[in-house]
Amino acid sequence: MSGEGRDPQAIRKLAPGKLVIASHNEGKVREIRALLAPYGIEPVSAGSLGLPEPDETGTTFVANAELKAMQAADLSGLPALADDSGLCVDALGGEPGIFSARWAGPSKDFGVAMELAEKNIAGTAVEGQPAPTRDAHFVCALALAWPDGHVEWFEGRVDGTLVWPPRGANGFGYDPMFLPNGHAETFGEMAPEAKHAMSHRADAFRQLVAAVF
Ligand code: IMP
Repeated sequence: MSGEGRDPQAIRKLAPGKLVIASHNEGKVREIRALLAPYGIEPVSAGSLGLPEPDETGTTFVANAELKAMQAADLSGLPALADDSGLCVDALGGEPGIFSARWAGPSKDFGVAMELAEKNIAGTAVEGQPAPTRDAHFVCALALAWPDGHVEWFEGRVDGTLVWPPRGANGFGYDPMFLPNGHAETFGEMAPEAKHAMSHRADAFRQLVAAVF
């Protein structure tokens, strides 16, 4: 699902100025800053405003992005942007999905999370059958909320396969395991600009930029 089918005229525009980035994940805040730099937006991080991190109680990426953005807009009195993203593995019925961050455990160790993904894929193998598919995709839902409760959302995606062992030290999260379709380098090996040009977050941002600026 994406917001692409909606009437662009009905989507609220975002004026230049301060925008709260409602994320406590520094990797994501860095990428979002770079993506918004050309649009006269002054990003303010939720951390610098001392905003709390809400529980992600939604059952979809969009629902979780909306609840984070709406809470930040409400508490700060400024427009707020939140993303909820994750890795969906076909052989695992879409897991870890909205639980992608939680698979890394309390120490946020993505070496552990990638090993868990690999172990679980191997666990779906059936003797005498072809090896399980290693197809996967990243999803990024973006929600843009205003203090009056209005919210717009966009959903982006990038398809690829999972490699083992992980390759590269760039990016964050599951990047070293994710080989985007049509490319020879994992997100962990690519230069950040190359990832930013093709990622799920870039796809969602292209939709947001086309609609709200
Ligand atoms: P969120 O903070 O609930 O959106 O959790 C997203 C989690 O999904 C991150 O902590 C990563 O584990 C994973 N993830 C999302 N986007 C990316 C990406 O671009 N590269 C690698 N992992 C990602």
